[in-house]
Amino acid sequence: MLLSSLRRARVLQLTLAVIKPDAVAHPLILEALHQRILENDFLIVRKKDLIWRIGDSERFYAEHEGRFFYQRLVEFMSSGPMRAYILAREDAITRWRELMGPTKVYRARYTSPSTIRAQYGLTDTRNTTHGSDSEESAKREIAFFFPEFSAEQWLEE
Ligand code: ADP
Repeated sequence: MLLSSLRRARVLQLTLAVIKPDAVAHPLILEALHQRILENDFLIVRKKDLIWRIGDSERFYAEHEGRFFYQRLVEFMSSGPMRAYILAREDAITRWRELMGPTKVYRARYTSPSTIRAQYGLTDTRNTTHGSDSEESAKREIAFFFPEFSAEQWLEE
């Protein structure tokens, strides 16, 4: 009842969160990250375990084509299972990015040691999690991972 009124009032924002292959490879880290999502009052709208082909990584990260880390990034993202979530809460996009911390793991460890990337990240590429960075990218990325999902329908449910 409460949930449906929050949805209808458009208080809940949706974001896409991904646990990358470096973290999914370690069941305890995967579980810790799942708990972290729940502890931070995110509602799990959808959850999916999947493996990308290299072409999926290339399409998803097309904006980074030509950067020095691009090849490393696309190979890493298709190197093993990932877990994708559609998460909802107030300010979901910002809150999830705050929890993840800075892109670069060593910067994260120095500036924000309690963040996910600081605690679990291995390198600047193998940095544990992804999160959409704007409403526009959340829409695009949710459609990329969950093509069958309709935000409009979910908000009306
Ligand atoms: P974010 O994931 O924090 O939104 P970006 O969109 O800039 O960051 O980069 C996408 C992903 O590419 C990062 O999460 C990381 O895996 C990789 N990456 C970004 N910058 C670097 C870098 N300087 N060196 C190595 N890998 C990088």
